[in-house]
Amino acid sequence: MIKFLDLKKVNQPYEQAFQDKMKTVMDKGWYILGDEIKAFETNFAHYCGTKYCIGVGNGLDALVLILKAYIQLGKLQKGDEVIIPANTYIASILAVLQADLIPVLVEPNLETYNLDPNTVEKAITSKTKAILPVHLYGQLAPMKEINTLAKQNNLLVIEDAAQSHGAVLYSQKSGNWGDAAAFSFYPGKNLGALGDAGAITTNDDALAKMIFAIRNYGSEKKYVHDYIGINSRLDELQAAFLSVKLPNLDKENAVRKKIAERYLSEIKNDKIKLPFFDGTQNHVFHLFVIRTANREELQEYLSANTIQTLIHYPTPPHHQKALSYMGDLSFPITEKIHREVLSLPISPVMTDEEVSYVIEIINKF
Ligand SMILES: *Cc1c(COP(=O)(O)O)cnc(C)c1O
Repeated sequence: MIKFLDLKKVNQPYEQAFQDKMKTVMDKGWYILGDEIKAFETNFAHYCGTKYCIGVGNGLDALVLILKAYIQLGKLQKGDEVIIPANTYIASILAVLQADLIPVLVEPNLETYNLDPNTVEKAITSKTKAILPVHLYGQLAPMKEINTLAKQNNLLVIEDAAQSHGAVLYSQKSGNWGDAAAFSFYPGKNLGALGDAGAITTNDDALAKMIFAIRNYGSEKKYVHDYIGINSRLDELQAAFLSVKLPNLDKENAVRKKIAERYLSEIKNDKIKLPFFDGTQNHVFHLFVIRTANREELQEYLSANTIQTLIHYPTPPHHQKALSYMGDLSFPITEKIHREVLSLPISPVMTDEEVSYVIEIINKF
């Protein structure tokens, strides 16, 4: 059986180092906002090339905290509009709603599944205050074009980088393109913790200062609360585990890329649309997503041949019950994507034989 993602195998090489870290934390007896979180924040900021990294509880909170901090700083206000790709994971939209802002969904580009600068431009109104590109499946959105639009219209750019740790566009890393970026270290992400974890990267001094406070009860000094904060601190142990894994992230992304390149050159089946890839580091293949008109049939066929696949995502956010107020909206490109996409197994621990087998079976479909 070829698992979609064998997380146990992904984390096995780090087991001893995790146990050593666990002992370090136990010996210190300091569990919240200690040395490990500070060290990871320094390491990850350095990795992304940003001035700051702020460790938080998860990816959703990372987005919420960026938006709430901008509200606190007076750069966003309740009711402002935020432009988001309609085909994102629902977290990006929930974050905007949690911050009392208005998500404005736009159609993505059907080739890259990322934001389309043309649909973004058409959606800009006098109430638009931010663009929230999602680097979906591990590929950076067209950030030069998005940043140009943002500059022309005086908008903030907030990256949802939950799927794109380490992706590079024109020598600039994911997380260092917008005014701020949100990362998730959910176990299945390219850099995954052993539980929930997230972070924000930014070069903005005032924003970083505000987020450091509001992730910790709006407090910069113990028992002094200047802002309405939340409790969303990156866990000390998770931070330690992430510092163990970070030095291998580029190596692991390179393995993903090798697998993707094999899929791209060796899968030959007219019924299957392969993902767009420009050959650079612009894509870290968090997911390898193909499209086919016979998705359910293909998924069953692969399953019968012991290949596990997943769908990212089966239902577009505007058709979810939770967002039923959006029910009248129609996004034909987004809906087509949700009907046709299928994610093939890809991970740093997949063997050459497994990749060959997946290719052979798909080519016989
Ligand atoms: C995983 C993910 C999130 C949320 O991250 P959590 O850590 O699960 O809260 C947000 N946006 C996107 C695009 C994601 O893939």
